[in-house]
Amino acid sequence: MTYLFYFLVFVLSSSIVSFLTVMGHDFPKIEFNRRSACDNCHKILAWFELFPVLGYILLRGRCRNCQNKIHWIYPATEFLGGVFVLTGLALGKSIYLFAPIFIMMILFAFMDHYHGFIYPIFYILSIPTFVFSILNHNKIYLLVGLGTYTILYLLHYFGKSIGLGDVELLTILALLFGYNKILSIILFACALCILHFLLQKKRSFRFVPYLTIATGIVYLIS
Ligand SMILES: [Zn+2]
Repeated sequence: MTYLFYFLVFVLSSSIVSFLTVMGHDFPKIEFNRRSACDNCHKILAWFELFPVLGYILLRGRCRNCQNKIHWIYPATEFLGGVFVLTGLALGKSIYLFAPIFIMMILFAFMDHYHGFIYPIFYILSIPTFVFSILNHNKIYLLVGLGTYTILYLLHYFGKSIGLGDVELLTILALLFGYNKILSIILFACALCILHFLLQKKRSFRFVPYLTIATGIVYLIS
């Protein structure tokens, strides 16, 4: 029974990531009755091909119709989403509390990855976490949030090295996580960014995907 529960949790979490991929890619042109199709030949996918992670394995990473390679980022992010939630549960984290924040961050990560910007409207997804936190008497780090915003905004204004979306997102994380964790998140994200640069030699300015992975790791290990 427990195994079935964890299996269902995994499927649900990876399906949510899969949905957020589409949302991040297509927004604001979302069609909820649109059927998923191959990026190359546009053939509509069968139900079993839509199954997170497993669909990719069954197809051996290629479209059934045109043999075009399916990008590894789809199964990889679905898998990571499932593993993240299962690890959180195993470690006894109150994952429901931070679920809205992580949904927001994953969505922003895909928007940033595909388009290089994020839609601020989705900041509203962070509200439930703030409300739950206050109801649970968890601390909201107002001063840390204010400090983070001021420093990063000045960096954005004078240095142009950081986007306004990153400033706002980091402020939300600072308000919820406090001084120690926000520093760890920033350092972790920068380390991932540098590592990726060294491996691929491709300079990437899209910071939110690294930030999302870093937040997930810091949340799990702290
Ligand atoms: Zn195809």
